[in-house]
Amino acid sequence: YAAKINSNEAVLYDPALDKASQQNLSLLSELRRALECNEFKMFVQPKLRIDTGEFIGLEALVRWEHPEKGMIYPDQFIPFSEQTGFIRALTRWMLEQSAMLCRDLTAYGINAKISVNLSTRDLLDQNLPAKFSAMLARYAVSASSFCLEITESSIMDDPVRALLTLDGLHAMGVDLSIDDFGTGYSSLAYLKRLPVDELKIDQSFVMNMESDIEDAKIVRSTIDLGHNMGLRVVAEGIESEAVWWLLAKMGCDQGQGYFMSRPMPAAQLIGWIAQWVPPRMKRDTVSSK
Ligand code: C2E
Ligand code: MG
Ligand code: MG
Ligand code: MG
Repeated sequence: YAAKINSNEAVLYDPALDKASQQNLSLLSELRRALECNEFKMFVQPKLRIDTGEFIGLEALVRWEHPEKGMIYPDQFIPFSEQTGFIRALTRWMLEQSAMLCRDLTAYGINAKISVNLSTRDLLDQNLPAKFSAMLARYAVSASSFCLEITESSIMDDPVRALLTLDGLHAMGVDLSIDDFGTGYSSLAYLKRLPVDELKIDQSFVMNMESDIEDAKIVRSTIDLGHNMGLRVVAEGIESEAVWWLLAKMGCDQGQGYFMSRPMPAAQLIGWIAQWVPPRMKRDTVSSK
C-alpha cells in the first residue's frame, strides 16, 4: 500500500508506510503547524516602469521563517505543497495577506498592483474566484489592484478546468500574467487561448542579456511578441544597470530584479519607495553636468 495524500488534504494512515512517506507526513504536519503559528512571511519585490523608473507594483513571494532552521525559501516547500494540496491553504493565506497589504498601501496613498503566484492546484480549485472575491470585499480593495501569475505548465494538468478558473478570475477584473515565459511548453498556443494581460520573461534570459547575444535576441523577440499580442511585458531578474538600459531600449514595459531591490518583508516597502531613485534620474544628473 502506498500512503495516499489526496487533494482534500486528508491523510490515510497505512502501517506499510515507507520511510520517505513518513517523512512526507511529518513535513505536511510541519507545514500546517507553520501556517497556524504564523511562520510564513510575505516578502515583496518592487516592480518598476522601465521608461520612467516609477514604482508601480510588487510581486508577493512567500518565505518560511522556521524557528530553528531559519529562513526557508519557496523552492524547498512549494513543490511538496503542490503535491499534497497544502498549496491551496498557503495560496489563500498569501491572497489574504496581499489584500491586507493593498488596504494598507491605499491608506498611505500608494497605488500598486500586487502580483501573487498561483500553482496548478489553485487553478483546479473552482471556488477560488468566489473565495478571492469575498476576501477583496472584506478588505474593501478592488480586484483591479491584483495580478495573478501562472506558469504555462500549471495549465497542462487539466486545461479545461484551469481555463474555467482563469476566466472566473479574469471576469472579476483581476489581471493574469504568464510567469517564467519561454521555459514551458506550448507557449504560443496558450498565449492565444488564455485571458492574459501580462507576460513575464523568465529571469534566465534576462540575467546575462548584456553579454549573451542569444539571450538578448530571445528577450527582444519576446517583448515584440507580447506587444503584438497586446500584452504588457515584464522582465524579471534585472541584476545590473546595463540590463535595465538594454530593456529600456527594447521597449520592455516593466521590470523587477536585484538591481532595484531584493524581495523584502512587506513592512519595509513604504520605506523603500520613499528612498527609491530611478536610474534615469541618476543618469540625467550625470549627463547634465
Ligand atoms: P517566480 O514567481 O518566478 O519569482 C521570481 C523569483 O526570482 C523569486 O524567487 C525572486 O526572489 C527571484 N528574483 C527576483 N529578482 C531576481 C534577480 O535579479 N536575480 C535573481 N537571481 N533572482 C531574482 P523566490 O522568492 O525564491 O521564489 C521562487 C519561486 O517560488 C517563484 O518564482 C515562484 O514560482 C515560487 N513562489 C514564491 N512564492 C510563491 C507563492 O506564494 N505561491 C506559489 N504558488 N509559488 C511561489
Ligand atoms: Mg512569479
Ligand atoms: Mg517568474
Ligand atoms: Mg522565474
